[in-house]
Amino acid sequence: VDVPPIDKLNRDQKRIYDLIVRRFLATLTKDSIVEFRKGILEINGERFVAEGKITIEKNWKEIYPVREDEREIPKLKVGEGVEVVAIRLVRKETKPPKRFSQGTLITEMEKLGLGTKSTRHEIIKKLYSRKYVIGPSLVPTESAFAVIDAIKSYDISKPDMTAHLEREMDKIAEGVKDRDEVVEESRKMLADVLKSLRMEEDNIRKSLREAVKTQASIGKCPKCGKDLVIRYSSNKKRFVGCTGYPRCKVTYPLPQKGYIEKTGKVCKCGAPIVKVNGKEICINPDCKG
Ligand SMILES: [Zn+2]
Ligand SMILES: [Zn+2]
Repeated sequence: VDVPPIDKLNRDQKRIYDLIVRRFLATLTKDSIVEFRKGILEINGERFVAEGKITIEKNWKEIYPVREDEREIPKLKVGEGVEVVAIRLVRKETKPPKRFSQGTLITEMEKLGLGTKSTRHEIIKKLYSRKYVIGPSLVPTESAFAVIDAIKSYDISKPDMTAHLEREMDKIAEGVKDRDEVVEESRKMLADVLKSLRMEEDNIRKSLREAVKTQASIGKCPKCGKDLVIRYSSNKKRFVGCTGYPRCKVTYPLPQKGYIEKTGKVCKCGAPIVKVNGKEICINPDCKG
């Protein structure tokens, strides 16, 4: 192994090196052992549940520490009485589920049996390059919704069909199933879907085209009312231009870095407001608002 001169690394490089070494060593270390305890208590006929989690053997977590919520609850016997120390009434609201990050999406795909270890990254990369999602927390775009709307009444929109095919392919690898048999079956499945999609072709084309158009637009031109879109100059600098060009010559400069998100809001000056790195700004540099 080629060991870098550790004393020559700067602070950030050292930390990354440390992280890689720890992570690598952790993969070679024994599983950690965690104990879960669940206590079901009854107070005046109402059921309460207490859950506890403690690490018994750290093992790999010794090398690669992870922050965890640990809470120990005592061992209880069936029928054992406990003392009620305090009563608190808490008001809480449910929160919408968090958006996927690339990492949590990969875990979810694993759970659903979608893709393989080597293809999952590729699949997510494709979602980005085809602009079905944007940003680090995978926000779906209009074209993503349009595609799903077009196919949601068919089995291909559900993970089951892909997972089924992945399992069938595993069976070929194990020698349990015949390749031709599986290929024939999947061909039939897809042919059926394709046939019904073909009948909807015109509608699908129309809604996709519409979605791509609204997705590209960041707002309306204050001068002519046509869509404003992000354009790139010959020296690869981005700016906002009017789709009414060459008739309408309205343009606005844009910051060159960061995600540009549309907000649907219009500034007092008439120009659209966009979100750059989570901050809302009017794209008109001469704005007095
Ligand atoms: Zn215009
Ligand atoms: Zn403005």
